[in-house]
Parts: sequence; C-alpha cells; structure tokens
Amino acid sequence: MTDHGEAGGQTHWRNRLRSTVEALTGELARLESELLSTRAVRANGGDDDEHDPDGIPLSSVLQTLEGQKARALTEIRVAEDALNDLQHGRYGVCRVCSMPIPASRLEIRPATTTCVSCAARAR
Ligand SMILES: [Zn+2]
Repeated sequence: MTDHGEAGGQTHWRNRLRSTVEALTGELARLESELLSTRAVRANGGDDDEHDPDGIPLSSVLQTLEGQKARALTEIRVAEDALNDLQHGRYGVCRVCSMPIPASRLEIRPATTTCVSCAARAR
C-alpha cells in the first residue's frame, strides 16, 4: 500500500462491507422465515410425496435452505471479520501470502481475505 492517501479508501470499504452485512442479514431473515414456513408445511402432514409430485421434495428444499442459511452466516462472519481488519489496518492483505489484494478483486468481493491465486489454490 502507498502513503496515507488511504483514508477515503477506508471509508469506501467500510461502506461496502457494511452494506454487504446488511444485505446478508436481510437474506438470512428471508431464509429463516422460509425455513419456518417449509417446516410448518411438513409438520402439517404435507409430506414429501403429497407436496408436489413433480416438484422438489420438502426434505431437499429444507436442505437447500439450511445450506443457504449456513453460507449467509459464514459470509456475515467473514464480512464482520473484514470490518475488524479494516479497523486494525489489515484490510486488503491476503491472509495466506500477505500480498495486497487488488482493489478490483475487493470491488467484487469486499469481504475476501485472500488474493486470487491463494483463493484458487484453496479450492
Ligand atoms: Zn495470497
């Protein structure tokens, strides 16, 4: 990173991360209410076969929703982590190789903690 021309940048990333957290929190609430209503259908005897013969069975709908919820929770934690890093001046540095993460990548994934090549290697 360069000199102290970063103050504006920090605000930019903080805003990006905060809106990421907000969007994910909204998504989480939506998933939770969907999970509740799907479970309610199931509890009322709408079992997998009668639900919709051509549709997706309730059990796999629940599974998908649970998966999405877990992912949203993880992403919220990651974004909050990144906000914490930002506060401590560690934001935008790859956790694996300690190289700066290009701003172009951060624009797409503000909460990312690894550079492109480390992320590719982790897959
Ligand atoms: Zn890296």
